[in-house]
Amino acid sequence: MKLYNTLTKKKEEFVPIEEGKVRMYVCGPTVYNYIHIGNARPMIVFDTVRRYLEYKGYEVTYVSNFTDVDDKIINKAIEEGVSTTEVSERYIDECKKDMADLNIKPASKNPKATEEINGMIQMIQTLMDKGYAYEKEGTAYFRTRKFDGYGKLSKKNIDDLEAGKRIAIEEQKEDAMDFVLWKPKKEGEPFWESPWGNGRPGWHIECSVMAKKYLGDTIDIHAGGEDLVFPHHENEIAQSEACNGVEFAKYWLHNAFLNINNQKMSKSLGNFFTVREIGEKYDLQVLRFFMLSAHYRTPLNFSADLMESSKNGLERLITSAERVKAIRDKNAGEITGEEKELLVKAEDYVKKFETAMDDDFNTADAISAMFELAKYANINVTETASKEYAGEIYKMMTDLGNVLGIILEEKKEILDEEIEKLIEERNQARKDKNFARADEIRDLLLEQGIVLKDTREGVQWKRA
Ligand code: AMP
Ligand code: ZN
Repeated sequence: MKLYNTLTKKKEEFVPIEEGKVRMYVCGPTVYNYIHIGNARPMIVFDTVRRYLEYKGYEVTYVSNFTDVDDKIINKAIEEGVSTTEVSERYIDECKKDMADLNIKPASKNPKATEEINGMIQMIQTLMDKGYAYEKEGTAYFRTRKFDGYGKLSKKNIDDLEAGKRIAIEEQKEDAMDFVLWKPKKEGEPFWESPWGNGRPGWHIECSVMAKKYLGDTIDIHAGGEDLVFPHHENEIAQSEACNGVEFAKYWLHNAFLNINNQKMSKSLGNFFTVREIGEKYDLQVLRFFMLSAHYRTPLNFSADLMESSKNGLERLITSAERVKAIRDKNAGEITGEEKELLVKAEDYVKKFETAMDDDFNTADAISAMFELAKYANINVTETASKEYAGEIYKMMTDLGNVLGIILEEKKEILDEEIEKLIEERNQARKDKNFARADEIRDLLLEQGIVLKDTREGVQWKRA
């Protein structure tokens, strides 16, 4: 299996540090609002990378953080007159709902910055002890020039970078390239005690600390959107390697942008759709399928037309798989000699899929192989096929679907008795004062278009 490493600018054979195991870190979102579909691209593509590694038999430890202390969160909290924790916890919950709807596997660990402050203080202290960091009036800085490899990921030269930089008047740093590890408290902002006074950490240090704590000093794969290469990942490398004295990550993977009218989708430009908005119009599997229709390193333009064609394509795959499943369920019998031959031919499409994925996770070609397999099944699994053969083909189709996180099943309408059962469970949860679960059930039903109304006579429901 080959993957493109931003660090070497080459496709390289993947060799994990420890046989059979992969330690992977993906930079997560800053939680101050609903995530937009641009943010969803790294989540979907790196979840697919993880799924493929697992399909290949690796045991994957997947860590992705939530940045829950940041200027944007603080501003939002001020705007709403609530605490920063209220804002961040709310959007972590909302983000997790979106991720579940996008069929993103739960991470092995989702550390939050605010829960890792001690580790950050420790790392900054080590950097100070080693001469890689210094403090000036409550701000801790990284001494960038002291770290020899600075620029090796982004291929930037430190002198060129410096030429374009000035030290702002309010900063007291030694060199324009030095970056902040810890900043002093400002009025009304959350803060923590530290050897350099009350304050809060800079953004880059959080990922270095979390990766070290949950995955070790050297990890296999570090990933994120391409806008993170510089300065975020470059700074992470500097901090981690200066602190630990060993290579930080072996493979660096970066996804290209999701664009709209050929411009990066972003909160600041206002040209975005939230995952929630798209979910009102489409099953979010369609969004996932659309994202994977392009290779992760090529820019992808979002459009209604492309979403429609993804929807149609996905429906074709589902129809094909459902037909094969129905044949499996209605027929009997073991695989015949002739069917065995047909099965061997079908395996060619699985190999094609694997070859595509082995080539730096080429999901676009992998999806083509799935279409070919569906076409083959439409012709070569007849109404009289044996149960065993139809079952094998069905498994083949759904196994490939699973690698991409696509469930090849018709979504069934929720039945009345299932609704009643959930309402009963919600009533019990409320009696037990388990309001989180009660809300979860209400949201779950809402997702299925079921609206609840609490009345004196009890809970009533209707399909919206
Ligand atoms: P942020 O919350 O802005 O730090 O972004 C979280 C993740 O989403 C990072 O990995 C970003 O690189 C990524 N990201 C943000 N916007 C886009 C976009 N338009 N296309 C692809 N990735 C994006
Ligand atoms: Zn990060």
